[in-house]
Amino acid sequence: MEDILNRHYAALLGLGEEWKVTDVKLDVAARRIDIWLEYAKRSAICPACGRLMPLHDQQPERTWRHLDTMQFETLIHAKTPRVKCADDKVKVIELPWAEKGSRFTLLFEAFAIRVLQAARSVKDARDLLRLSWFQTHEIMSAAVKRGLARRDAEEISFVGMDEKSFLKGKDSEAFACLMTDIDRHRVLDVARGRSEKGATALIEKALNPLQQYMVCGVAMDMSAPFENAVRKLMPCADVVFDKYHIEAHLNEGVDNTRKGENKRLLEADDKRLAKSKYLWLTGFEHMSDEAIAHRNDLLKCALDTGKAWALKELFGWFWKSRDKFMAKANFTFWYEQVVKSGLKHMVKVANTLKNHLYGLLAWFDSRINNALTEGFNTTIQALKATAKGYRNFENFRTVILFYCGKLDMRPDFVRVGATL
Ligand SMILES: [Zn+2]
Repeated sequence: MEDILNRHYAALLGLGEEWKVTDVKLDVAARRIDIWLEYAKRSAICPACGRLMPLHDQQPERTWRHLDTMQFETLIHAKTPRVKCADDKVKVIELPWAEKGSRFTLLFEAFAIRVLQAARSVKDARDLLRLSWFQTHEIMSAAVKRGLARRDAEEISFVGMDEKSFLKGKDSEAFACLMTDIDRHRVLDVARGRSEKGATALIEKALNPLQQYMVCGVAMDMSAPFENAVRKLMPCADVVFDKYHIEAHLNEGVDNTRKGENKRLLEADDKRLAKSKYLWLTGFEHMSDEAIAHRNDLLKCALDTGKAWALKELFGWFWKSRDKFMAKANFTFWYEQVVKSGLKHMVKVANTLKNHLYGLLAWFDSRINNALTEGFNTTIQALKATAKGYRNFENFRTVILFYCGKLDMRPDFVRVGATL
């Protein structure tokens, strides 16, 4: 009977005849199965030269977690043989069931990756798999490494660069910068900081030198460090300032105008602008009829905030221009209106846009933006909320690439044998 069980497990594990199952222990109370394997031959393939070499010795016994058997946690125990190569150096042989250094079998890792991808959160996946945070992260980290090593160096025409807050605070190191492949909807890489050094590291990590030359356009916020890094490393790329960031700058101009004006009005006990912040920032589609009516009433009062809002709305026509020549005319008209208004916060934004006009006009050639990165924000926020461990930058990078990198992360089963 015992022999049948052993042979059954040997077959289940898909092992060749060089590995024998020597013992199987079933602990019903602990819902656990332990399987002992032993190397049965006197020689093995040397991982360095690929030749069959005599065994030298064995490493102490190690344990790997395997796929559960009928909901019983299943552990494999074995001593790994070492061979002596022709150069007299001793080498640890490759195991058919696990990657070097891993505490899990390949099948378990493959299963864990699928569960992590399908579960609603990393926490849910961990509970299902009965893994610690650290173990889960080990599996994700190995998966991302495999995925990055397999990624092809294909042509990537349009990328987005954006910053993400990753720790509390405002200094560069509290941020991460992220590059997306706009056409293939994936995150290419993540680097620490939002300085030129960080942006340079990001470009070098995400793309090889030839790929850097092939990029035609980069969507980004009006950020000098990002722009400088792109000009140096991606000489053929147009810098395209992201539409949504520009909208945010205009909103900020309106909001600063409202803050200043509200303060002045409140001093005269005039509460017209109190609690009106979102009336000026949201688009019509998100507003209630009451809110729109309220705003229309305020617009009749000829307040600075209303004028600033109207200028922000007027800028919308810029994006509707037929081509970049019309867009330039549109911009010039808009800029003059802002200057005439004398609203200092709006003039400040208008000057920023004027100084970056080339990157606004470049949008008409490629029409790229960072909406994709904004979309990944939801995922990234959810990941940050679930684990304190993501305060470590490398862990943060791993988890983003695991979920947003579209990587082929499956373990390599080629050497495991036909039965798997
Ligand atoms: Zn060798």
